[in-house]
Amino acid sequence: MELDELLKKFKEYSTQDTTVLEYAWNYASESHKGQKRASGEDYFIHPAAVAEILVDYKMDLETIAAGLLHDVLEDTSIPHETFKKEFGDEIYNLVAGVTKIETLKFSSRDVAQAENWRKMILATARDIRVIVIKLADRLHNMRTLNYMPREKQLEISHETISLYAPLAQRLGIFQLKAELEDLSFKYLFPDEFQSLFAKVQLRYAKREKLLEDFKGELEKHLTTTQVPYRVLSRAKNLYSIYRKMMRQQKPFEEIQDALGVRIITDTVINCYALLGLVHSVFKPVAGSFTDYIAVPKMNLYQSLHTSVMAASGEIIEIQIRTEDMHRTSEYGIAAHWRYKLGDKGSDKHLDEKLNWLRQWIEWLQDLSSPREFIESFKTDLELEQIFIFTPKGEVKPLPVDATPIDFAYAIHTDVGNTCIGAKVNNKMVRLDHPLKSGDICEVITRKNSAPKKDWLSVVKTAAARSHIRKFLREHGLAEE
Ligand code: MN
Repeated sequence: MELDELLKKFKEYSTQDTTVLEYAWNYASESHKGQKRASGEDYFIHPAAVAEILVDYKMDLETIAAGLLHDVLEDTSIPHETFKKEFGDEIYNLVAGVTKIETLKFSSRDVAQAENWRKMILATARDIRVIVIKLADRLHNMRTLNYMPREKQLEISHETISLYAPLAQRLGIFQLKAELEDLSFKYLFPDEFQSLFAKVQLRYAKREKLLEDFKGELEKHLTTTQVPYRVLSRAKNLYSIYRKMMRQQKPFEEIQDALGVRIITDTVINCYALLGLVHSVFKPVAGSFTDYIAVPKMNLYQSLHTSVMAASGEIIEIQIRTEDMHRTSEYGIAAHWRYKLGDKGSDKHLDEKLNWLRQWIEWLQDLSSPREFIESFKTDLELEQIFIFTPKGEVKPLPVDATPIDFAYAIHTDVGNTCIGAKVNNKMVRLDHPLKSGDICEVITRKNSAPKKDWLSVVKTAAARSHIRKFLREHGLAEE
């Protein structure tokens, strides 16, 4: 990857000025000068590859710059302050976030590391882009894992399959999740991987014919309509097949693995039009239809799902979606992030993003392993801390049962002092309403309004209490 290529790819989807990107490229290249990777190549190959992955995911400029710089703080002696002055707070915070995660080592034998993971998650609650960079970093490291000693390969693969792949899944970045899983699978169980790989290749070669027949049949009926579409066959995820084999205790030959086909079109209306057409040409399998367009999954996934019977009697699983939905399903939250560009005030995807974040925090609470991790995490999240969002998507950590007054003071003293009401998740609530993790809270203020004495018995944070006292004292309204 050369700088020219990176800039060219970036400009395909963004009009942002790329001066910073060029600067970051040269800065990182200079900073890592003389350092080598395990492969013997120049170290800079790695951050450049990470940036390339991020560009492929159409991330924003700050994220890509941070991808180029992600190992600078950790691997060089450049002081944090200097770096911050060079690149500003946003890029610095992203790189510092990644650096923090980089210092963590997870292993199932050492659940004491849960503490570090918690830190990572807290950092993430502030900016999901940190996780996206980390996933790109891990993907490139997995792609080049063959240069590592066996011991390291096992350790890193284990960490990847148990932590990073599930994270990618949760972010809805399925493409990345599948690649992380299959690469880990290859190193963790090399024999099983090789044998399954060979069998899958064979089965899919036979399927090509079936797919061609299906496309041909569809084509015949579609030529008369004006609906634009393209048909893709679904990528295979070896590890998910392997997991199915383990779960069902069956050899590959007995695993039912239907041919998966995706039909991609332009509009929602045309999705339904194509569905109708498919059902009129092929016999649908009863009970197989699910409408994830009308009712999206919580990671924002949308598609129409149906299964039909081909002339040969084989079952074909079909997903019908728009280009937009397709991007979301492949790239997940990353696909949404770039809409942040431009007018930050009118982000039409903000609601979805916030909703997703809230769901994610809920998910973190019901993770099932390692046990100690959940226990310690619950302690923090459920018993000591909650996370409340501003309507603009900022997160404020507060103690449990904190009220809108606490939240108002957490935003700014003046907001606290002049607050007269609050909306939680768009509904008016009383000022003593206990907030819950993931709530979106909007504080309503009125100029010249003042804090009330009885707030003191309601608030949960020391900060709010002291601001209220101070105001009352200064205005001769002190308690008693
Ligand atoms: Mn790295």
